[in-house]
Amino acid sequence: MSCYLAILATISPGDEVVIPAPYWVSYPEMVKLAGGIPRFVVAEDTTGFKVTPEQLRAVLTPKTRMVVINSPSNPTGAVYTRAELEALVAICVKAGVWILSDEIYEHLVYDEQSTCSPATFSPEAARLTITVSGYAKTYSMTGWRLGTLVACKEVSAAVADLQSQTTSNATTFAQFGALAVHQHPDKAKASLAEMAVAFDRRRLKLLAGLNAIPGLTCYRSQGAFYLFPNIRKFGLSSADFAARLLEEELVAVVPGSAFGAEGYIRLSYATSDAIIEKGLERLARFCAKLG
Ligand SMILES: *Cc1c(COP(=O)(O)O)cnc(C)c1O
Repeated sequence: MSCYLAILATISPGDEVVIPAPYWVSYPEMVKLAGGIPRFVVAEDTTGFKVTPEQLRAVLTPKTRMVVINSPSNPTGAVYTRAELEALVAICVKAGVWILSDEIYEHLVYDEQSTCSPATFSPEAARLTITVSGYAKTYSMTGWRLGTLVACKEVSAAVADLQSQTTSNATTFAQFGALAVHQHPDKAKASLAEMAVAFDRRRLKLLAGLNAIPGLTCYRSQGAFYLFPNIRKFGLSSADFAARLLEEELVAVVPGSAFGAEGYIRLSYATSDAIIEKGLERLARFCAKLG
């Protein structure tokens, strides 16, 4: 919701919004609902699913009003380094376009990676950046729909107006959930740390399992709780691959095409070790059958 409000508050019909692909499924639809035009920049696993400054520069036009950055990423788990982000942010600042920084997975990073926020880079970047985050992924509050948005005064005021006339407020029980995080910061930190350790173990288990399957290759992503293996060797569309895997082996994955990235599937490791092992076994059997 924070993303949608940020887009509604800043985007007018005909404005272009740059969305790096693979992208979270909702961004293009949110842009279209606001009358904007999504412009995609595609990053493959060969570049770690990260767009380069050259790619970003090439897609900007006088009509560009916003660039979306989602690091760590859903669906790829890619995490931009500070230097990589600084290069992209510098281009946005020079062009004077809004930066929508979706940092909802900010606390779920591995391999000693760290995240950083474009809004902290410079006063100019702070003025142009709309930072959104939320409780869903960090505190297992998925579906409670409670997020945060930090932006300049004008944008925050517009967002507040939009919210008061639409959803009005966040649901009360979700607010109490978030309140608990702030009332018991030590407990919240400890449970987050415990969760991150479990996620990391599952990430490495799933990654090793995927890369052991002949024909599959998976980029070592460093954040969120997703892996995004490349399935091109099997010669099926990602939608066909996912449908057949579900029908024949009862394993649910999301086709890359949903994220603007044909040739990949998304797996979530926000599940138990036992289910990951079972899923891997079935996926391996399925891939062997495809040959
Ligand atoms: C889950 C998710 C959100 C939104 O989460 P809600 O709190 O359910 O609204 C936003 N951005 C990304 C990239 C996500 O994966």
